Amino acid sequence: MFNLVKGTHDVILEEAEKYSYIEQILQNTAQIFNYKEFRTPIIEHSELFARSVGDSSDIVRKEMYTFEDKGGRNITLRPEVTAGIVRSMVNAKLFALQDYPVKAYYTGPCFRYERPQQGRYRQFNQFGVECIGITSPHRDAEVISMGYDSLIFLGFKDVTLKINTLGDDESRENYKKALKEYFGKHLENMCSDCKERYELNVLRILDCKVPEDQEIVKNAPKISDFLSENAKNSFETIKRDLDFLGIPYEVDESLVRGLDYYSGVVFEFHYVSSKGKSYGAIGAGGHYGKLVAEVGGPEVEGCGYAFGIERLASVMNDDNLFEDLSDNVDIYLMPLGERANAASLGIANYLRVSGYRCEICLENKGMSQMFKKAERRNALYAIIIGDNELENDEYVIKNLASQEQFKVSSDDLLKTFDELLNFEGKKETECCEGDCCCGDDSKCDSDNDHEENCDENKSCCCKNK
Ligand code: ATP
Ligand code: MG
Repeated sequence: MFNLVKGTHDVILEEAEKYSYIEQILQNTAQIFNYKEFRTPIIEHSELFARSVGDSSDIVRKEMYTFEDKGGRNITLRPEVTAGIVRSMVNAKLFALQDYPVKAYYTGPCFRYERPQQGRYRQFNQFGVECIGITSPHRDAEVISMGYDSLIFLGFKDVTLKINTLGDDESRENYKKALKEYFGKHLENMCSDCKERYELNVLRILDCKVPEDQEIVKNAPKISDFLSENAKNSFETIKRDLDFLGIPYEVDESLVRGLDYYSGVVFEFHYVSSKGKSYGAIGAGGHYGKLVAEVGGPEVEGCGYAFGIERLASVMNDDNLFEDLSDNVDIYLMPLGERANAASLGIANYLRVSGYRCEICLENKGMSQMFKKAERRNALYAIIIGDNELENDEYVIKNLASQEQFKVSSDDLLKTFDELLNFEGKKETECCEGDCCCGDDSKCDSDNDHEENCDENKSCCCKNK
């Protein structure tokens, strides 16, 4: 037996389906905003993260999985994806046309040597977007709204969006001076990390999670008193856009984010599940001014965010936000004998290409064992195929819930299942919903037989009656 590496977890079976479901919705949302998919390597040169995420960040200081490869290169498993995405855009010369913004989305694992706890792993999955070449704060607002919309599409009702601004360079430099002065007076009583942060990047102290430091942090100077006219206007524009879009938010002046590349607006999405659990921010992001140039691109600015798939899945589990992801087998095929085994492969494929989920028992089991297997797989119907059935071209279909059974010929097999499973709402019906294909809606809800005129390929509501 081998144990999992500390801080990692297997995502298997239903949980994997839930992850795919979440990722699918996040991707679909990015696609309707016309973002394009990027898949960049998990390993990058360590220097990329030192440059972008920043030497003063906790991530670079102590959380990276870094090693020297056999060629003597200094390699890091990506702790986040933004740096790699921007690097890929520079390498692919995507900025050459200056057709901004360049928009990317990504899905995949990240690695951070953190203390494992609820909602915090050493290998975890992120979905994120980057919008690069931003010249207007309206674009930041659009990015934030896309994150918010994604959560609505996932079924969240009341998400807390926290926003803040880190201002422009001028505002931040003045603010940092004020923070240095303030924290300089309290440093003695603060945690050892904060002492380091004071030297490396005093802003980071605002991100301290040690409870004893909170009181000191709470009374620190506020960025809003140091914002330049420009920075103030940008932030006001973003807030006005969010108001206009009806997106609720809270301004949280202690929000600074853990990565050094942010400037301008920063934001986090929080959600407390009905079980009272929060698992930390479910997603976070912000505007970055210098990152693109730092990685070798032009002096353009960007904005992006990343969601943590593990944290989304946890709160969605708590609040039953997953649609019915049940993986019922539609049809369980029960061949009796060698000839039937071979025939059932063909029959199953015929049904599978029509979209039915089929399984076959190819292990030569007896009837009662096959019924048990069908039950364990939550199968809706069974088809029993023996020599006689093959001889007569007639199969026995059994409804496993009602135990009713009847015979159909191979020609009628598909039609029969289309009717049976449509009727139970298993397959999506192309119901006319009062807009009947025969052009006479007035008869649609009645019990008459006007479906004679209906499009053969559609199961109109009158047929379903
Ligand atoms: P936190 O403040 O919770 O440490 P962060 O600021 O480090 O988060 P980002 O680097 O912005 O987070 O990552 C974006 C999202 O990725 C987070 O909002 C969170 O949902 C998720 N995430 C970050 N670190 C982890 C982790 N160790 N395990 C699981 N999910 C994580
Ligand atoms: Mg973190």
